[in-house]
Amino acid sequence: MATDVDIAIVGGGAAGIAAARRLAASGFSTIMLEASSRLGGRGWTQELAGFPLDLGCGWLHSADRNPWTGIAEQAGFAIDRREAAWGSQYANLGFSAEQQSAARRALNVWEQQLPRLVSRSDRAGDALLPGAEWNPYVHAICGFSNGVAPDRMSAADYLAYDAACSYRNWRVPAGYGTLISASLPSATNVRLATPVEVISEHRNGLAITTPTGTIHAAAAILTVSTNVLAGASIDLPSSLDPWRHAASVLPLGSDEKLFFQIDGETLFAPETHLIGDPYDTRTCDYYIRPFGWPVIECSLGGDSARIVAEEGLVAAFDLAIEQLIKLVGSGVRSKLRVLGASNWSRSDRIGGAYSCALPGHSQARQILSRSWEGRIFFAGEATHGHDFSTAHGAYDSGLRAADEAIEALRPQELRSLRG
Ligand SMILES: Cc1cc2nc3c(=O)[nH]c(=O)nc-3n(C[C@H](O)[C@H](O)[C@H](O)COP(=O)(O)OP(=O)(O)OC[C@H]3O[C@@H](n4cnc5c(N)ncnc54)[C@H](O)[C@@H]3O)c2cc1C
Repeated sequence: MATDVDIAIVGGGAAGIAAARRLAASGFSTIMLEASSRLGGRGWTQELAGFPLDLGCGWLHSADRNPWTGIAEQAGFAIDRREAAWGSQYANLGFSAEQQSAARRALNVWEQQLPRLVSRSDRAGDALLPGAEWNPYVHAICGFSNGVAPDRMSAADYLAYDAACSYRNWRVPAGYGTLISASLPSATNVRLATPVEVISEHRNGLAITTPTGTIHAAAAILTVSTNVLAGASIDLPSSLDPWRHAASVLPLGSDEKLFFQIDGETLFAPETHLIGDPYDTRTCDYYIRPFGWPVIECSLGGDSARIVAEEGLVAAFDLAIEQLIKLVGSGVRSKLRVLGASNWSRSDRIGGAYSCALPGHSQARQILSRSWEGRIFFAGEATHGHDFSTAHGAYDSGLRAADEAIEALRPQELRSLRG
Protein backbone atom coordinates (compact mmCIF):
# COMPACT_ATOMS: atom_id res chain seq x y z
CA MET A 1 0.00 0.00 0.00
CA ALA A 2 1.43 3.42 -0.90
CA THR A 3 0.90 6.52 1.21
CA ASP A 4 1.40 10.03 -0.11
CA VAL A 5 2.85 12.79 2.04
CA ASP A 6 4.72 15.99 1.41
CA ILE A 7 7.68 15.34 3.70
CA ALA A 8 8.88 12.11 5.30
CA ILE A 9 11.18 12.38 8.31
CA VAL A 10 13.48 9.38 8.64
CA GLY A 11 14.52 8.89 12.27
CA GLY A 12 12.87 9.98 15.52
CA GLY A 13 15.87 11.23 17.49
CA ALA A 14 16.60 14.84 18.48
CA ALA A 15 17.04 15.97 14.85
CA GLY A 16 13.89 14.24 13.57
CA ILE A 17 11.84 15.59 16.47
CA ALA A 18 13.11 19.12 15.83
CA ALA A 19 12.16 18.79 12.16
CA ALA A 20 8.68 17.57 13.13
CA ARG A 21 8.27 20.55 15.48
CA ARG A 22 9.17 23.00 12.72
CA LEU A 23 7.00 21.27 10.11
CA ALA A 24 3.97 21.06 12.43
CA ALA A 25 2.97 24.63 11.59
CA SER A 26 4.08 24.58 7.94
CA GLY A 27 0.90 23.26 6.40
CA PHE A 28 2.78 20.38 4.75
CA SER A 29 1.72 16.81 5.52
CA THR A 30 4.44 14.76 7.22
CA ILE A 31 5.19 11.28 8.43
CA MET A 32 7.96 10.24 10.80
CA LEU A 33 9.46 6.80 10.19
CA GLU A 34 11.48 5.40 13.08
CA ALA A 35 13.20 2.03 12.90
CA SER A 36 13.15 1.24 16.61
CA SER A 37 10.15 0.82 18.87
CA ARG A 38 10.80 4.05 20.78
CA LEU A 39 11.47 7.72 20.08
CA GLY A 40 14.60 9.63 21.10
CA GLY A 41 17.42 7.75 19.34
CA ARG A 42 20.60 8.49 21.27
CA GLY A 43 18.47 10.38 23.79
CA TRP A 44 17.21 7.49 25.92
CA THR A 45 16.18 7.66 29.57
CA GLN A 46 15.54 4.33 31.23
CA GLU A 47 13.85 3.98 34.59
CA LEU A 48 16.26 1.73 36.53
CA ALA A 49 15.51 0.94 40.19
CA GLY A 50 13.16 3.92 40.09
CA PHE A 51 15.76 6.43 38.83
CA PRO A 52 15.50 8.05 35.38
CA LEU A 53 18.98 7.30 34.01
CA ASP A 54 20.26 8.50 30.65
CA LEU A 55 21.96 5.83 28.58
CA GLY A 56 22.80 8.41 25.92
CA CYS A 57 22.90 12.20 26.25
CA GLY A 58 22.59 13.46 29.81
CA TRP A 59 24.05 16.97 29.84
CA LEU A 60 22.64 20.14 28.33
CA HIS A 61 26.01 21.23 26.94
CA SER A 62 26.36 24.96 26.18
CA ALA A 63 23.26 25.06 28.34
CA ASP A 64 22.95 28.85 28.34
CA ARG A 65 22.38 28.80 24.55
CA ASN A 66 21.00 25.27 24.17
CA PRO A 67 17.50 25.18 22.60
CA TRP A 68 16.53 22.20 24.77
CA THR A 69 16.91 24.41 27.86
CA GLY A 70 14.05 26.65 26.69
CA ILE A 71 11.97 23.67 25.56
CA ALA A 72 12.41 22.08 29.00
CA GLU A 73 11.43 25.29 30.78
CA GLN A 74 8.35 25.75 28.62
CA ALA A 75 7.25 22.18 29.17
CA GLY A 76 7.72 22.44 32.96
CA PHE A 77 10.80 20.20 33.28
CA ALA A 78 13.06 21.09 36.23
CA ILE A 79 16.65 22.02 35.28
CA ASP A 80 19.61 21.45 37.57
CA ARG A 81 22.12 24.28 37.03
CA ARG A 82 24.81 23.10 39.44
CA GLU A 83 28.31 22.87 38.07
CA ALA A 84 29.36 19.37 36.99
CA ALA A 85 31.71 17.54 39.38
CA TRP A 86 33.97 16.34 36.50
CA GLY A 87 36.84 18.67 37.37
CA SER A 88 37.41 17.18 40.83
CA GLN A 89 38.66 13.85 42.20
CA TYR A 90 36.73 12.75 45.29
CA ALA A 91 39.10 13.02 48.30
CA ASN A 92 41.98 13.06 45.75
CA LEU A 93 41.78 9.25 45.77
CA GLY A 94 44.54 7.72 43.62
CA PHE A 95 45.14 11.10 41.93
CA SER A 96 46.85 13.68 44.15
CA ALA A 97 46.20 17.40 43.81
CA GLU A 98 49.68 17.81 42.26
CA GLN A 99 49.01 15.06 39.74
CA GLN A 100 45.66 16.60 38.84
CA SER A 101 47.30 19.98 38.17
CA ALA A 102 50.04 18.36 36.08
CA ALA A 103 47.53 16.32 34.08
CA ARG A 104 45.38 19.38 33.42
CA ARG A 105 48.45 21.34 32.33
CA ALA A 106 49.35 18.58 29.88
CA LEU A 107 45.81 18.67 28.48
CA ASN A 108 46.03 22.46 28.03
CA VAL A 109 49.42 22.23 26.35
CA TRP A 110 48.06 19.61 23.96
CA GLU A 111 45.04 21.79 23.12
CA GLN A 112 47.26 24.83 22.54
CA GLN A 113 49.29 22.87 20.00
CA LEU A 114 46.27 21.89 17.91
CA PRO A 115 45.93 25.08 15.78
CA ARG A 116 49.39 24.59 14.27
CA LEU A 117 48.37 21.11 13.05
CA VAL A 118 45.35 22.28 11.08
CA SER A 119 47.36 23.21 7.99
CA ARG A 120 49.64 20.17 8.38
CA SER A 121 48.57 16.63 9.32
CA ASP A 122 45.38 17.80 11.10
CA ARG A 123 45.91 14.72 13.30
CA ALA A 124 45.26 15.75 16.91
CA GLY A 125 47.57 12.96 18.14
CA ASP A 126 50.55 14.71 16.54
CA ALA A 127 50.37 17.34 19.28
CA LEU A 128 51.40 14.76 21.91
CA LEU A 129 55.09 14.55 22.79
CA PRO A 130 56.12 10.89 22.40
CA GLY A 131 56.39 9.15 25.78
CA ALA A 132 55.14 12.13 27.84
CA GLU A 133 53.85 11.20 31.29
CA TRP A 134 50.27 12.41 30.84
CA ASN A 135 49.67 11.13 27.30
CA PRO A 136 47.41 8.31 28.57
CA TYR A 137 45.33 10.90 30.47
CA VAL A 138 44.96 13.16 27.40
CA HIS A 139 44.13 10.06 25.35
CA ALA A 140 41.42 9.03 27.84
CA ILE A 141 39.88 12.52 28.12
CA CYS A 142 39.79 12.69 24.34
CA GLY A 143 37.96 9.36 24.37
CA PHE A 144 35.33 10.68 26.80
CA SER A 145 34.67 13.86 24.85
CA ASN A 146 35.11 12.60 21.28
CA GLY A 147 34.83 8.83 21.47
CA VAL A 148 38.20 8.28 19.77
CA ALA A 149 41.93 8.49 20.41
CA PRO A 150 43.72 11.72 19.37
CA ASP A 151 45.29 9.93 16.38
CA ARG A 152 41.84 9.36 14.88
CA MET A 153 40.67 12.93 15.32
CA SER A 154 40.84 16.07 13.18
CA ALA A 155 42.39 18.98 15.06
CA ALA A 156 40.24 21.42 13.03
CA ASP A 157 37.07 19.60 14.06
CA TYR A 158 38.04 19.67 17.73
CA LEU A 159 38.84 23.39 17.57
CA ALA A 160 35.55 24.23 15.82
CA TYR A 161 33.58 22.63 18.66
CA ASP A 162 35.77 24.12 21.34
CA ALA A 163 35.50 27.70 20.01
CA ALA A 164 31.70 27.59 20.03
CA CYS A 165 31.12 25.68 23.28
CA SER A 166 30.05 27.81 26.27
CA TYR A 167 31.15 25.20 28.82
CA ARG A 168 27.93 25.64 30.80
CA ASN A 169 26.58 22.16 31.53
CA TRP A 170 23.17 21.64 33.13
CA ARG A 171 20.91 18.64 33.58
CA VAL A 172 17.27 17.65 33.43
CA PRO A 173 16.69 15.37 36.45
CA ALA A 174 13.75 13.69 34.65
CA GLY A 175 16.23 12.68 31.92
CA TYR A 176 17.41 14.31 28.69
CA GLY A 177 15.97 11.38 26.75
CA THR A 178 12.59 11.89 28.41
CA LEU A 179 12.66 15.57 27.45
CA ILE A 180 13.57 14.83 23.83
CA SER A 181 10.95 12.18 23.24
CA ALA A 182 8.25 14.18 25.06
CA SER A 183 8.90 17.10 22.71
CA LEU A 184 7.42 15.55 19.60
CA PRO A 185 4.16 17.38 18.83
CA SER A 186 1.30 15.06 19.75
CA ALA A 187 -0.37 15.42 16.34
CA THR A 188 2.69 14.05 14.50
CA ASN A 189 1.98 11.08 12.28
CA VAL A 190 4.62 8.60 13.59
CA ARG A 191 5.33 5.03 12.63
CA LEU A 192 7.59 3.26 15.12
CA ALA A 193 9.31 -0.05 14.34
CA THR A 194 9.31 1.02 10.68
CA PRO A 195 12.83 0.92 9.24
CA VAL A 196 13.33 2.61 5.91
CA GLU A 197 14.97 0.08 3.57
CA VAL A 198 15.11 1.89 0.24
CA ILE A 199 14.80 5.48 -0.91
CA SER A 200 14.50 5.86 -4.68
CA GLU A 201 13.44 8.50 -7.15
CA HIS A 202 9.75 8.47 -8.00
CA ARG A 203 8.43 10.99 -10.52
CA ASN A 204 9.47 14.37 -9.08
CA GLY A 205 9.65 12.99 -5.58
CA LEU A 206 10.69 9.87 -3.71
CA ALA A 207 9.52 6.33 -3.02
CA ILE A 208 10.41 5.26 0.50
CA THR A 209 10.20 1.55 1.09
CA THR A 210 9.59 0.03 4.52
CA PRO A 211 8.63 -3.54 5.51
CA THR A 212 5.02 -2.40 5.87
CA GLY A 213 4.65 -0.50 2.63
CA THR A 214 5.91 2.27 0.38
CA ILE A 215 5.48 5.96 1.06
CA HIS A 216 5.53 8.45 -1.78
CA ALA A 217 6.86 11.78 -0.60
CA ALA A 218 7.81 15.01 -2.31
CA ALA A 219 10.83 15.24 -0.01
CA ALA A 220 12.55 13.47 2.87
CA ILE A 221 14.59 14.62 5.84
CA LEU A 222 17.18 11.98 6.60
CA THR A 223 18.47 12.09 10.20
CA VAL A 224 20.14 8.69 10.65
CA SER A 225 23.63 8.51 12.20
CA THR A 226 26.75 8.64 10.01
CA ASN A 227 27.47 4.95 10.62
CA VAL A 228 23.97 4.04 9.44
CA LEU A 229 24.21 6.32 6.40
CA ALA A 230 27.62 4.96 5.40
CA GLY A 231 26.48 1.36 6.02
CA ALA A 232 24.29 -0.92 3.97
CA SER A 233 20.94 -0.82 5.78
CA ILE A 234 19.38 1.88 3.56
CA ASP A 235 19.57 1.54 -0.21
CA LEU A 236 19.98 5.03 -1.70
CA PRO A 237 20.38 6.32 -5.29
CA SER A 238 24.03 6.10 -6.35
CA SER A 239 24.14 9.86 -6.89
CA LEU A 240 24.10 10.09 -3.09
CA ASP A 241 27.51 8.41 -2.87
CA PRO A 242 29.28 11.71 -2.02
CA TRP A 243 27.03 12.04 1.05
CA ARG A 244 27.76 8.47 2.07
CA HIS A 245 31.45 9.10 1.64
CA ALA A 246 31.19 12.23 3.81
CA ALA A 247 29.42 10.11 6.46
CA SER A 248 32.20 7.50 6.31
CA VAL A 249 34.87 10.08 7.23
CA LEU A 250 32.73 11.30 10.14
CA PRO A 251 32.44 7.94 11.92
CA LEU A 252 30.89 7.54 15.35
CA GLY A 253 33.33 7.08 18.20
CA SER A 254 32.74 4.83 21.21
CA ASP A 255 31.16 6.01 24.44
CA GLU A 256 29.11 3.84 26.76
CA LYS A 257 27.64 4.04 30.24
CA LEU A 258 27.37 1.48 33.03
CA PHE A 259 25.08 2.04 36.01
CA PHE A 260 25.40 0.73 39.55
CA GLN A 261 23.16 1.12 42.53
CA ILE A 262 25.25 1.81 45.61
CA ASP A 263 24.39 0.66 49.05
CA GLY A 264 25.51 2.74 52.03
CA GLU A 265 25.10 6.49 51.90
CA THR A 266 28.36 7.18 53.76
CA LEU A 267 30.66 5.54 51.23
CA PHE A 268 30.65 8.50 48.85
CA ALA A 269 29.40 12.07 49.05
CA PRO A 270 26.67 13.06 46.58
CA GLU A 271 27.57 14.84 43.33
CA THR A 272 31.22 13.78 43.37
CA HIS A 273 33.50 12.33 40.75
CA LEU A 274 36.38 9.91 40.29
CA ILE A 275 38.76 9.01 37.48
CA GLY A 276 39.63 5.33 37.85
CA ASP A 277 43.29 5.37 36.76
CA PRO A 278 44.65 8.56 35.17
CA TYR A 279 47.67 6.65 33.83
CA ASP A 280 45.54 4.20 31.85
CA THR A 281 43.97 5.02 28.46
CA ARG A 282 41.24 2.56 29.50
CA THR A 283 40.33 4.45 32.63
CA CYS A 284 36.70 4.55 33.75
CA ASP A 285 35.03 7.77 34.88
CA TYR A 286 32.55 7.69 37.78
CA TYR A 287 29.87 10.27 38.45
CA ILE A 288 28.88 9.45 42.00
CA ARG A 289 25.41 9.83 43.44
CA PRO A 290 24.02 12.23 40.81
CA PHE A 291 21.23 14.34 42.33
CA GLY A 292 22.00 12.54 45.61
CA TRP A 293 20.60 9.27 44.24
CA PRO A 294 22.26 6.00 45.40
CA VAL A 295 23.67 5.49 41.91
CA ILE A 296 27.08 5.55 40.22
CA GLU A 297 27.10 6.44 36.54
CA CYS A 298 30.28 5.02 35.08
CA SER A 299 31.24 6.48 31.71
CA LEU A 300 33.54 4.70 29.29
CA GLY A 301 35.10 6.58 26.37
CA GLY A 302 37.33 5.61 23.46
CA ASP A 303 39.53 2.64 24.46
CA SER A 304 37.47 1.77 27.57
CA ALA A 305 34.15 2.01 25.70
CA ARG A 306 35.36 -0.32 22.97
CA ILE A 307 35.55 -3.07 25.60
CA VAL A 308 31.74 -3.20 25.59
CA ALA A 309 31.59 -4.04 21.87
CA GLU A 310 34.79 -6.09 21.68
CA GLU A 311 34.82 -8.04 24.96
CA GLY A 312 31.26 -7.68 26.20
CA LEU A 313 29.44 -6.07 29.10
CA VAL A 314 30.75 -8.48 31.74
CA ALA A 315 34.34 -7.46 30.93
CA ALA A 316 33.35 -3.79 31.05
CA PHE A 317 31.65 -4.14 34.45
CA ASP A 318 34.66 -6.11 35.75
CA LEU A 319 37.01 -3.29 34.72
CA ALA A 320 34.76 -0.64 36.32
CA ILE A 321 34.61 -2.57 39.62
CA GLU A 322 38.33 -3.39 39.60
CA GLN A 323 39.35 0.28 39.17
CA LEU A 324 36.95 1.35 41.91
CA ILE A 325 38.33 -1.30 44.28
CA LYS A 326 41.86 0.03 43.70
CA LEU A 327 40.67 3.45 44.81
CA VAL A 328 38.40 2.67 47.77
CA GLY A 329 39.14 -0.92 48.75
CA SER A 330 37.53 -4.30 48.19
CA GLY A 331 34.63 -3.55 50.55
CA VAL A 332 32.97 -1.60 47.75
CA ARG A 333 32.26 -4.75 45.76
CA SER A 334 29.45 -5.94 48.03
CA LYS A 335 27.91 -2.47 48.01
CA LEU A 336 27.45 -2.34 44.25
CA ARG A 337 24.49 -3.70 42.32
CA VAL A 338 24.54 -3.65 38.52
CA LEU A 339 21.55 -1.69 37.19
CA GLY A 340 22.06 -1.49 33.45
CA ALA A 341 24.29 -0.41 30.61
CA SER A 342 24.30 0.99 27.11
CA ASN A 343 25.60 -0.78 24.06
CA TRP A 344 25.46 1.89 21.36
CA SER A 345 28.20 0.45 19.18
CA ARG A 346 26.33 -2.83 18.84
CA SER A 347 23.03 -1.14 18.08
CA ASP A 348 22.41 -1.62 14.33
CA ARG A 349 20.27 1.51 14.11
CA ILE A 350 22.92 3.80 15.63
CA GLY A 351 26.34 2.07 15.52
CA GLY A 352 28.34 4.15 18.03
CA ALA A 353 28.23 7.30 20.14
CA TYR A 354 28.72 10.51 18.14
CA SER A 355 30.56 11.69 15.05
CA CYS A 356 34.17 12.77 15.01
CA ALA A 357 35.94 13.88 11.82
CA LEU A 358 38.96 11.84 10.78
CA PRO A 359 42.13 13.92 10.32
CA GLY A 360 41.80 16.12 7.22
CA HIS A 361 38.05 15.67 6.97
CA SER A 362 36.35 18.33 9.06
CA GLN A 363 34.90 19.84 5.84
CA ALA A 364 32.83 16.67 5.39
CA ARG A 365 30.23 18.11 7.78
CA GLN A 366 29.46 20.80 5.22
CA ILE A 367 29.16 18.25 2.42
CA LEU A 368 26.87 16.08 4.53
CA SER A 369 24.55 18.98 5.33
CA ARG A 370 23.85 19.86 1.67
CA SER A 371 20.52 18.88 0.19
CA TRP A 372 20.16 16.53 -2.74
CA GLU A 373 18.17 17.80 -5.73
CA GLY A 374 15.74 19.66 -3.49
CA ARG A 375 14.33 16.29 -2.45
CA ILE A 376 16.51 14.86 0.33
CA PHE A 377 17.59 17.06 3.21
CA PHE A 378 20.16 15.90 5.72
CA ALA A 379 20.01 16.50 9.46
CA GLY A 380 21.51 14.89 12.55
CA GLU A 381 24.29 15.87 14.91
CA ALA A 382 27.04 15.16 12.38
CA THR A 383 25.73 17.79 9.96
CA HIS A 384 26.31 20.66 12.39
CA GLY A 385 29.41 22.78 11.77
CA HIS A 386 30.36 23.23 15.44
CA ASP A 387 27.70 21.76 17.77
CA PHE A 388 28.15 18.27 16.28
CA SER A 389 28.12 15.31 18.66
CA THR A 390 25.40 16.88 20.79
CA ALA A 391 21.63 16.76 21.17
CA HIS A 392 21.36 20.54 20.68
CA GLY A 393 23.43 20.35 17.48
CA ALA A 394 21.05 17.62 16.31
CA TYR A 395 18.08 19.84 17.21
CA ASP A 396 19.38 22.84 15.26
CA SER A 397 20.16 20.65 12.27
CA GLY A 398 16.57 19.35 12.27
CA LEU A 399 15.22 22.91 12.18
CA ARG A 400 17.63 23.82 9.38
CA ALA A 401 16.67 20.80 7.26
CA ALA A 402 12.94 21.44 7.82
CA ASP A 403 13.36 25.06 6.72
CA GLU A 404 15.23 23.94 3.61
CA ALA A 405 12.49 21.43 2.77
CA ILE A 406 9.77 24.06 3.25
CA GLU A 407 11.71 26.47 1.05
CA ALA A 408 12.15 23.83 -1.66
CA LEU A 409 8.51 22.71 -1.66
CA ARG A 410 6.88 26.14 -1.51
CA PRO A 411 7.33 26.96 -5.24
CA GLN A 412 5.94 23.52 -6.17
CA GLU A 413 2.95 24.18 -3.93
CA LEU A 414 2.39 27.54 -5.59
CA ARG A 415 2.70 25.97 -9.05
CA SER A 416 0.07 23.35 -8.22
CA LEU A 417 -2.27 26.05 -6.78
CA ARG A 418 -1.92 28.00 -10.03
CA GLY A 419 -3.01 24.86 -11.79
C1 LIG B 1 26.88 7.58 25.73
C2 LIG B 1 26.48 8.88 25.10
C3 LIG B 1 26.52 10.04 25.85
C4 LIG B 1 26.15 11.26 25.27
N1 LIG B 1 26.13 12.39 26.05
C5 LIG B 1 25.69 13.55 25.54
C6 LIG B 1 25.48 14.68 26.38
O1 LIG B 1 25.69 14.62 27.61
N2 LIG B 1 24.99 15.83 25.82
C7 LIG B 1 24.71 15.92 24.47
O2 LIG B 1 24.26 16.98 24.01
N3 LIG B 1 24.87 14.84 23.66
C8 LIG B 1 25.34 13.68 24.16
N4 LIG B 1 25.42 12.57 23.36
C9 LIG B 1 25.16 12.70 21.92
C10 LIG B 1 23.67 12.87 21.58
O3 LIG B 1 22.94 11.86 22.24
C11 LIG B 1 23.50 12.74 20.08
O4 LIG B 1 24.38 13.64 19.41
C12 LIG B 1 22.07 13.07 19.59
O5 LIG B 1 21.12 12.47 20.44
C13 LIG B 1 21.92 12.59 18.16
O6 LIG B 1 20.62 12.85 17.69
P1 LIG B 1 20.27 12.58 16.14
O7 LIG B 1 18.84 12.89 15.96
O8 LIG B 1 21.28 13.26 15.30
O9 LIG B 1 20.55 11.04 15.91
P2 LIG B 1 19.85 9.75 16.58
O10 LIG B 1 19.50 10.03 17.97
O11 LIG B 1 20.78 8.62 16.29
O12 LIG B 1 18.51 9.57 15.75
C14 LIG B 1 18.47 8.89 14.52
C15 LIG B 1 17.29 7.94 14.55
O13 LIG B 1 17.23 7.27 13.28
C16 LIG B 1 16.73 5.97 13.52
N5 LIG B 1 17.05 5.13 12.35
C17 LIG B 1 18.20 4.51 12.03
N6 LIG B 1 18.07 3.82 10.88
C18 LIG B 1 16.80 4.02 10.45
C19 LIG B 1 16.05 3.57 9.33
N7 LIG B 1 16.60 2.76 8.39
N8 LIG B 1 14.74 3.93 9.22
C20 LIG B 1 14.18 4.74 10.16
N9 LIG B 1 14.84 5.19 11.25
C21 LIG B 1 16.14 4.84 11.38
C22 LIG B 1 17.43 5.54 14.78
O14 LIG B 1 16.76 4.47 15.41
C23 LIG B 1 17.40 6.83 15.60
O15 LIG B 1 16.26 6.89 16.45
C24 LIG B 1 25.74 11.32 23.91
C25 LIG B 1 25.67 10.14 23.17
C26 LIG B 1 26.03 8.94 23.74
C27 LIG B 1 25.92 7.68 22.92
